Formats: sequence, structure tokens, C-alpha cells
Amino acid sequence: MPFAKTGGLADVLGALPRAQVELGHDVWVALPWYASLTAQPAPYWIGDIEVPFDGGLERVGVGTLERDGVRWVFLGHDAFRRETLYGYPDDARRFALFSAAVPFAAHRLGVLPHVVHAHDWHAAFLSVLLRASAKLPVGFARLPNLLSVHNAQYQGWTDPAALSLWGGFDAELGAALALRGVGNLLHAGALSATRVGTVSPGYARELAHGQHGYGLEGVFAALGDRLFGALNGLDLELFDPQRDAALPAGFDPASADGRRRAGELLREELELEPGRPVVGVVSRLVEQKGLDLLLEALPEVLAQGWSVALLGSGEGAQEERWRRAFGQHSGRVAGRIGYDDRLARRIYAGSQVLAIPSRFEPCGLTQMIAMRYGSVPVARATGGLADTIRDGVDGFLFEEPSARALGQALGRAKSALNDPARWAALLAAGQSRDFSWSNTARAYLQRYREVHHDDVPPTLPREVDDDRTPSR
Ligand code: ADP
Repeated sequence: MPFAKTGGLADVLGALPRAQVELGHDVWVALPWYASLTAQPAPYWIGDIEVPFDGGLERVGVGTLERDGVRWVFLGHDAFRRETLYGYPDDARRFALFSAAVPFAAHRLGVLPHVVHAHDWHAAFLSVLLRASAKLPVGFARLPNLLSVHNAQYQGWTDPAALSLWGGFDAELGAALALRGVGNLLHAGALSATRVGTVSPGYARELAHGQHGYGLEGVFAALGDRLFGALNGLDLELFDPQRDAALPAGFDPASADGRRRAGELLREELELEPGRPVVGVVSRLVEQKGLDLLLEALPEVLAQGWSVALLGSGEGAQEERWRRAFGQHSGRVAGRIGYDDRLARRIYAGSQVLAIPSRFEPCGLTQMIAMRYGSVPVARATGGLADTIRDGVDGFLFEEPSARALGQALGRAKSALNDPARWAALLAAGQSRDFSWSNTARAYLQRYREVHHDDVPPTLPREVDDDRTPSR
């Protein structure tokens, strides 16, 4: 952000570098120059570089601009300039080329960083190259680097031989980087990076203990103390209830009157029965988010007296089930299937609780937004949700991924809502939380210092002893 966005990663790269600059550091952010980029002012293109890749040389354009003290580096190539950012059969190759170009672009710009921080499978090949490539600009070989995993479900799969062809590695290393006979960029990056970060300490623990690894369980378990979690922050300017154009002017979540008015507006907009408390949902409708559990719990939730306001989009079958629920329970269950930033903000402000029954959640943003906007999160105790929500203090947590456990948690929330003093205390506790990015920036800087002094891990992935678990 603000140059390209498909999800939470864009928010992180929009906010974290700025927060690091504010702490006095020199931060360069490299990203592909996508067709949809609308950078204003346009970057200054300094010319092309030649990048060793896949046995030849690729010409890649380098553009830069500075914004809020952050130096942005854009890499231009036909392979990057497409309708959407990703979603193509050759994505692994596209982003491997992007990764390969970064050290050469930095060299061209006269930058030799102390630390490189790569994000997700798209940049994971950079960790591999820094570790193993014989063709890097001066100073880049074995440069300390950190790979952040924002969601381990997405890994960047490709042909088993592809990574060694692209990087010029021998067959033995290429085979070790593959996972069960499939080229896998996240796997290769996690084996190669100096350290591996995730977006919450809870998710890091889960990955280390074999949960939610989507086939990378062995790799995460073997990382030991090379794996860490640092909780994402929230952009407090982007999500400022008192200055949110989607809400009545001057909406103050700390005022009972303000919340009542926002609740009335939401119920009117969605044609929900007046007077009933609302369970809000703003989410992608995918298995991860567990909203099928809310569908299953609907009879109980409605019996408890709640209405439900849902905004979401994702898998067709889940969308359809929610559309049917809107029809079956009109006046009590309503919302919109689609992406709608304005309605999302009205749901945060106008609902009494926000349901987040995720099966896993690397960090999660909506619980933080909800607390800031005066909605109490009711969430599964997993990953970043368990790290941010204090059960019974500023939200409600439940353990089991079941409709029954979700129903019970909503029941507890309802009892609290019936006690105005208790409810006011829950809201006040949520609004006093500090989710600012400067905390996260400090946490990463600490890791950068450690990584800078770390030895590169002793074994190259050549010593992998089966097709899954690396030895250390
Ligand atoms: P994830 O990145 O896994 O989707 P997060 O909780 O980290 O989940 O971030 C979700 C972000 O996307 C929040 O800012 C939320 O408000 C927004 N969002 C999700 N679904 C929708 C939607 N249908 N309409 C508008 N905003 C949405």
C-alpha cells in the first residue's frame, strides 16, 4: 500500500517500513511494477539491469521514488505487468525472477543493506539465492536475511527442477529444496533464510508444533529458535472511528449514544429488526475463517436474541449458503456478499460483537479494528486472535472449532451485554489497547539486530535426510 494490494500483506508493507523510518532507519522496499500500479508521482526510471536467471540474462527496469521517507524500488518486466497481481500458471517463475532481480537492483542503486526482509513465498527465492547463488553482486552472498510467513497455506508450487534451473544450483541442492517431488518456494526459502518470522507469536508456536503447516510441518518444527512471531499492528489513521467518512460525523465508540446511533443505522441499512443486538462478520468466506460454524450455530444464536450482519466474499458454496440464510431469516440475518469497505466499517461500528471463528489465523486484523470501533470480538483461541484478545477482559475466546463452542461464547457475550457496567468495561479495555505499528517495528528491529549477528545456519539443505525434514 498504496501502490498495489490484494490482501493483508499490502497493509503490512504500507505501514511497517514507515514505522521503521520513524525510528531512524533507512528502509528500501522492492516490489514488481504491476500493470495496475498507480504510483503518483510516477517513479523515476533509472534504466535496465541484467539479471542472471534460468541460464540466461533477463533485462529488468529499475524505478525509484521516495514517500514518507521510505525508498520504493519498482522492478519492471513483461512478466510482472498483468491484469491482476498473481493467479497465473507461471506465478512461481514470475516471482522467482522478481526475487533474483532485487540484489542487482539494490547494487545498481548503490545499496548494500545490513539485513534483507523477504515476505511470503513470492520473495522466498531471495533467501535461497542469498544463501546459495554463485552469481550475486559484491557483498550480497550470505547476507543476513529474514523470511516472513504471512500465511503458510500459500507456498508457490512449481516443477521440481525449476528452482535449480532458475538459480543455477546443482541437482543435489535442487532436489533438497523441493518438497515431496514438487518445487516449493516457501519450503526452499524457509530452509535457506537466516530466520523465519510469522505475524504473531501464537501462529509461530502452532507452526512449530505441527499445526496449520500445510505440508511444511517438518520444516517449521526443525527451525527451532530460528522461527519467531511478531504481531502485526493496525494503521491507526486508516481505522480511526472518529474520522471515518463511512460513519456519522464524529462517531465516538466510547459514547453509548454514538454506538446506539451507529447500531440503528446498520440495522436500517440491512433491514434488520430494530432493537436487537447484532453479531457482525467481516471476512473472506473460505474454510480458514470458520463461518460455516456460525451458519451451523444460527438457530442457537438467534434464540439467544442476536441478529447477524455479515459481509463477505470467497468460495461460491459458502456464499450461496449465506444468501440462503439471508432469505430464510430475513429481518434477523442480513448482509452482503461482496467486498465493500464502507459497509465493513459500518459493521465494525454498529455491531455489538464481531464473530471470528477462524480455524487458524496467522494474525487477523478485524479483531483489532472491532476493538477500536466499539465491537467486542468473539473469536477462536488460535494464532494472532489468542495473542490479541484477552478472554473476558476485552473479548471472548473459545477453544474448539465447533458450532457448539461458538454458540457458548456468544452466550457468554450476551450475558455480559445484559450487564451495562460489565459491557462498558469490556469496551473500555478494548479501546485502551495499543495496536500501533511502532511496537511491531521495534520487534522487527530487534530481530534484524540478532540476524545481523547470527551465523548463517550451519547446514545447507543438502543434508535433508528424508523428503520432508531438514536436519539442523
Ligand atoms: P485476511 O487477510 O486473512 O483476509 P485479516 O483479518 O488479516 O484477514 O484482514 C482482513 C481485512 O480485509 C480487514 O481489513 C477487513 O476489514 C477486510 N475485509 C475482509 N473481507 C471484506 C469484505 N468482504 N469487504 C470489505 N472488507 C473486507
